[in-house]
Amino acid sequence: MSKSKGYAALKAKAPLAPYSFERREPRERDVVIEIKYCGICHSDIHQTRDEWSEYQEESIFPMVPGHEIAGVVSSVGSKVTKYKVGDKVGVGCFVDSCRTCAECKAGLEQYCTVHTVWTYNARDKEGTPTYGGYSDRIVVDENYVLRMPSNLPLDACAPLLCAGITLYSPLKHWNAGPGKKVAIVGLGGLGHMGVKLAHALGAEVTVLSQSLKKQADGKRLGADHYYATSDAETFTKLKGTFDLIINTVSAQLDWSEYLSLLKVDGTMVIVGLPEKDIPIDAFSLGAGRRSLAGSQIGGIRETQEMLDFCAQHGLTCDIEVVPMQKVNEAYERVLKSDVRYRFVIDMATL
Ligand code: NAP
Ligand code: ZN
Ligand code: ZN
Repeated sequence: MSKSKGYAALKAKAPLAPYSFERREPRERDVVIEIKYCGICHSDIHQTRDEWSEYQEESIFPMVPGHEIAGVVSSVGSKVTKYKVGDKVGVGCFVDSCRTCAECKAGLEQYCTVHTVWTYNARDKEGTPTYGGYSDRIVVDENYVLRMPSNLPLDACAPLLCAGITLYSPLKHWNAGPGKKVAIVGLGGLGHMGVKLAHALGAEVTVLSQSLKKQADGKRLGADHYYATSDAETFTKLKGTFDLIINTVSAQLDWSEYLSLLKVDGTMVIVGLPEKDIPIDAFSLGAGRRSLAGSQIGGIRETQEMLDFCAQHGLTCDIEVVPMQKVNEAYERVLKSDVRYRFVIDMATL
């Protein structure tokens, strides 16, 4: 074991504070990564505040969050072939999986039916708790490590590892592209990447935000249209408009109202993960043979594909870099939707 330092929530809802812990000795297929940057995902807030307890077996405290990890390889095990010291690499939401089930074999490790080992707030195959990227280093099997774009800044690419792939995967799966009308609900960390990616894929993009405050940004990011959901007119005007809606909102919304905005055979994909169940009425689905679906990040192969796509199109996240000591303040600002559009922690400040 070797010492690592980071920031942790010592118990549920506690503010994050400095914390020292052990990481495993690198094994022959392990890559040791010196973490340079880590994005702040809204999921980090849900988890450190234990807001998903109804849907999870356990929450493990102290909890070192962080699953948008970008850094540089500092050493490799004797059998590592994919990476060498000095490579710019990333780690997303999971660090291992069973590797043998049908989903793992298909590159859908995030849906592993045996055991996806999440990057933090989980247990590895030995039962040891995992600790995330608000820390100085991480040890990960090379098969669960991503190669970061060499032509783009590392800090602005860190959030691609969760926010980027979480939008890329459903956009690809539901064929967002030329001739398709796509709406992104919520212009936050996930949503702003949804706008950039859907636009780069060639779709006609609409942002549905609570207000028009961020309209100019939305257009700059690639949106063709922008509407405020606080305006009831929006729902009458856009009834039956979209092929695909991706809903990134972290709070309770009336999903039935949003379903009515879909065309016949349209799909609304839920990626936001609010704390409580949301009821929907059957009529909003039946009325247009509509589908309500969900999606969770993406597998290793698809995450690499997304990173390469971003490298090719010069796509990065709009970020505000913060020192580690300001993480609690950053959390409060995310909760107020006061972020343009992702906080990234500079780990040199740790
Ligand atoms: P975020 O930066 O806070 O963005 C969420 C956006 O939702 C806000 O910017 C805001 O957009 C909108 N919103 C917030 N509160 C709202 C309310 N009360 N009513 C209506 N709209 C509201 O969060 P994020 O990091 O993008 O994450 C969003 C959600 O996705 C979280 O629940 C997170 O846990 C989940 N997530 C899921 C996955 C997955 O794999 N499925 C991966 C990562 C994160 P406007 O200001 O534009 O209205
Ligand atoms: Zn995330
Ligand atoms: Zn599996």
